[in-house]
Amino acid sequence: MPDWHTIIRDRDFPMIEQAECDGKAMIYLDNAATTQCSRQVLWAMENYWQSQHANVHRGTYCLSEKATAALEETRLVCAEFLGAESPEEIVFTSGATASLNLLADAWALTELREGDLVLATEMEHHSNLLPWLEAARRCSAGLELVPITAEGTLDLGALDRLLDRRPKLLAVCAVSNVLGTVNPLGELVRRCHDAGTAVVVDAAQALRHELIDVKDLDCDFLCFSGHKLMGPTGVGVLYGKKEWLDRLRPPRFGGGMVRSFRFPEAEYESGPLKFEAGTLNLAGIAGLGAALEYLQAVGRKRIAARERELLAYTVHLLEAVEGVRILGKPERRAGAVSLIAPPLQAYDVALMLDKQGIAVRSGRHCAHPLHRALGIAGSVRVSPAFYNTAEEIDALAETLERTLAAAKKAGVSFGDKADG
Ligand code: PMP
Repeated sequence: MPDWHTIIRDRDFPMIEQAECDGKAMIYLDNAATTQCSRQVLWAMENYWQSQHANVHRGTYCLSEKATAALEETRLVCAEFLGAESPEEIVFTSGATASLNLLADAWALTELREGDLVLATEMEHHSNLLPWLEAARRCSAGLELVPITAEGTLDLGALDRLLDRRPKLLAVCAVSNVLGTVNPLGELVRRCHDAGTAVVVDAAQALRHELIDVKDLDCDFLCFSGHKLMGPTGVGVLYGKKEWLDRLRPPRFGGGMVRSFRFPEAEYESGPLKFEAGTLNLAGIAGLGAALEYLQAVGRKRIAARERELLAYTVHLLEAVEGVRILGKPERRAGAVSLIAPPLQAYDVALMLDKQGIAVRSGRHCAHPLHRALGIAGSVRVSPAFYNTAEEIDALAETLERTLAAAKKAGVSFGDKADG
C-alpha cells in the first residue's frame, strides 16, 4: 500500500507526477517560490468561471448573490484556517506583498508620526521590509532591523534593547524564506506587547509547516499568499484584529468600500470591505478557498510532519556533499534550506542542476540584507513540499555531488554573474 503522500501526489498533482519542462523530465524543488495547484483548486476555479462569475456585493440578481455568498464563504474558510475570531478580520488582497503594502500605507496614514520607530528583522523578505521603509520615510519615522545571529536566528537580546525604545510595530516573518528559520512567534509577540509594540507576522512561508492560530498567538496582523499553499497566484489575505481594522484608515479608494457619498463627504464601509476597493480576484479567491479546504482535508498536522521529515532528510544529505556549506543552523527549520558551494556561484550551481532536470532557486531570494549579513553574494535554495519524494531528494544530492566533483576536477572557472 503506497504512503498517503504518494497517493495524493499521483491523484492531485499531475504537474508534479509527470513533471517536465520542454519535454525534459524535471524534479520540482522550488516550493518556497510557488507550489503547484492541486486538481481540486483547478476544478474550483473552473467551476467559478462556468457557473458563478458575476460581480459581488453590487447586484440584486441571483448570480451576483451566488458569487457574493461564495466570496463570503471563503472569507469564513480563511478565518477558520487562521483561527481568527471572525471573518470580519479577513481582508482579501492579491498576495502577501499587497497585504503588507496595504497595511504599511494604512499605518502611515493612521499611526506613524515623526520620530516614531518601526522594527523589522534582518531576515525579512523585501516585501516585509520595503513597505515599512517607505512608510517610515514618508512619516519621518525610523526603521531599524533586529539582527540575526551566526546560526541564522533572531538576536533576542538585540530585540530587547530595541524594544526599550518603545517602537510602534515589529514586522517579522514566521519562517525565513532563505534559511527556513522558524521564529519564536509566541515569545516575540509577548515581548513586543509588553513594550506596547504591535506585531505583523509575514506567514507567506509558514502555513504548510506551522499551525498558526492567530487568536492563541495574539499577533495584531498576519498575511499570506495563496500560491504557496497549493492555490493560485494573485490572491492573498491580510488578517487584522477587528479593533485594528476598525481603527486604521483605508489607503485605497474606489467602488465597493463606500457606505455613503454625498459630495464631498464620503463615509466608508467598516470591516474588511473598507480595504477592498475595486473588484477582487474572485476566481482566485474561489481557488484559495479550495486550496485551504484541500490542506484541511489532507490533514495539516500530517502535511507539516511530512514536510519536516523531508526537509530534515534534505539537510542531512546536503550536509554530506563535499564542498557544500549549509546556511544557518537554526533550532527549528521549515520549508527551505539554502547552501553555497564556493568558489562556484549560486547561479552556476542552479543552472547546472537545471541542465540535469532539477529545479531549485538561486540568487538572493528577495532578501538582500540577509545575504549581506551573511557576507555572501547569493545562495542556492532547496524547498521541498509534501508531494516531493525521498527519491527526488536522493537524486538532488547525487546530482549535486557529481556536479561539484566534476567542476572541481575540470578546474572550471565560472563566470562572474551577479547572484541577484
Ligand atoms: N514574504 C515572504 C517570506 C516570501 O517568501 C514571499 C514570497 N517569496 C513574500 C513575502 C511575497 O509573496 P508574494 O510574492 O506572493 O506577494
